[in-house]
Amino acid sequence: MTALLTRDGADFSLVCDGCGWVAGNLAASLGTWDVAWGLFGRDGWRGSELAIGPHVCGGCEAPAALVGMVARALDRRSVTPAGRPSPRMVVQLLSDVRAVCLRGDLLPADDARLWDLLGGEPGRYRHLMVDVSGVRRLSSATVGVLVRASRRTSERGGRACLVGAAVGLSSALRMLCLDQVLPGHADQVSALEWLRGRQPVRSLVA
Ligand SMILES: [Zn+2]
Repeated sequence: MTALLTRDGADFSLVCDGCGWVAGNLAASLGTWDVAWGLFGRDGWRGSELAIGPHVCGGCEAPAALVGMVARALDRRSVTPAGRPSPRMVVQLLSDVRAVCLRGDLLPADDARLWDLLGGEPGRYRHLMVDVSGVRRLSSATVGVLVRASRRTSERGGRACLVGAAVGLSSALRMLCLDQVLPGHADQVSALEWLRGRQPVRSLVA
């Protein structure tokens, strides 16, 4: 979770995955993740180009396979199986699309369940659609899990997107320069058309 969103999603901090050092409130002074990371990179920081990390400061050793805080916390067998129902998560299987509907205020246990669910073998499901119209905000941990799932999906030749993101959430993703990794659509119909290649990328919701 190298880029740590503030609770209102309007700003972010950069956290070293090695020592936990925090550079706070970067959006206020630097605007977006890309600008901030470019600056910190010149100051010796290393790691992923993406805001989800992992990243380490100039004073920390970078292990060969650096693992970020979210992955360290979630990449272990969950106490709760991924298939167990959660009132904040509904999974639908639509032929070649796995649709995950999130609602309410997600708990860390939901991130773990989502990690397990989306980290496993996709089976016949090529694409991923995450409906976030029922949530007001997403934590950095949830964003990290979804970004990793999106990248895994695209590595397998599929597409991933969000549906119904609130204005604040869309702004937060743009601020973290993750809006191309997790593009958003207004509704499930247009999202499904885009996932299946019947709609150009430029028709995405701003
Ligand atoms: Zn450090």
